[in-house]
Amino acid sequence: GGSSDRQSDLLRARMRLSLQEHLWEFYQNSVNIPAEEQASARRAALDICAELRVFLHAKLPDMPLREMYLSGSLYDELQVVTADHAQLMVPLVLEKNLWSSIPGEDTIMNVPGFWLVRRENLEYFPRNSSYWDRCMVGGYLSPKSVLEVFDKLVAGSINWPAIGSVLDYIIRPVVPSETLTLEVQYETDRRLYVDFLPLLVMEDGTSLIAKPHRLAAERHENLWRQSFRVAETARLRALDQEDGGCRCACLKVAKAACKLNPALNRLNASQLTNAILLLSEKEGDWAQEALADRFLQMLRALVGHLEAGRLPCALSPKVNLFCELTEQEVDELGYTLYCALSDPEGLLRT
Ligand code: GDP
Repeated sequence: GGSSDRQSDLLRARMRLSLQEHLWEFYQNSVNIPAEEQASARRAALDICAELRVFLHAKLPDMPLREMYLSGSLYDELQVVTADHAQLMVPLVLEKNLWSSIPGEDTIMNVPGFWLVRRENLEYFPRNSSYWDRCMVGGYLSPKSVLEVFDKLVAGSINWPAIGSVLDYIIRPVVPSETLTLEVQYETDRRLYVDFLPLLVMEDGTSLIAKPHRLAAERHENLWRQSFRVAETARLRALDQEDGGCRCACLKVAKAACKLNPALNRLNASQLTNAILLLSEKEGDWAQEALADRFLQMLRALVGHLEAGRLPCALSPKVNLFCELTEQEVDELGYTLYCALSDPEGLLRT
């Protein structure tokens, strides 16, 4: 009857209120990183980047690279829990007339969001006309082979102990690592992981990164991954700026929950960002007071996307951001998030 309806409404309202409080408390205590910690992590990353620039210029002056730069959540105020990782972007210069990009959906692999980079004009510009021909496999530029070039350099020929002692850090390449990663211990109890991320910027502005397809069967080995990170992060931030919204806070809380819950480790920043961008197309109220409602709605939306096995990229809907999850992972994530709908605070227990 009416009165028990009203009671359960009241109960639900109270639960939501306390979730709201818990989310902001979690945000303050566990998600947000002290400014001082972020600053010293950035300083360590910058020191390493500077050393690498000097080394590469001296050792390989003819390698066609644009200036390397640091990027990632540490630089966008979107890193959570600990300031412990950054990407070192390494932009390769490709000759326009010698290389062309083919979208994944136009290849037999049929994977939107991935690209092949094909060598052109071999008859007029034979092998070794381009520096990057050394990384050509079967007529295509191989991201794996590009990574191997840097791996040899970084893990093989740089004297990290010497550089480390100058900077007063302990630096070592992480082995084994599928991406190329340096571990930098810059204070007794602080470590930073720096990933090398070779990058191609195509003529139309498309960014492709040398980060292999996760379910890399051999036929996927030559695929470059399109990166939407810059654009999706900018869009999220712009939406928040327009309405003083809590989308970035919602993202950070979700990232921290996924980082702290092993069953959710497979969800990454890009998937969460896009889930929020898609939700923003339907839902207009992102006021700070609506964080709990939007957080729950995001969880529900993720469950729905997992059920469908598909999370479209907000900037390019043909791209399925779940395409690298196995069926079992999709089921496990879906189950964990479904359970979290009735106990969202369980996600915040650290
Ligand atoms: P976080 O690591 O969860 O805090 O998320 P980030 O937003 O920093 O994203 C880093 C991840 O995105 C890494 O796994 C990168 O390999 C990947 N990524 C894809 N494109 C880019 C890009 O353009 N820049 C950076 N820094 N990372 C990218």
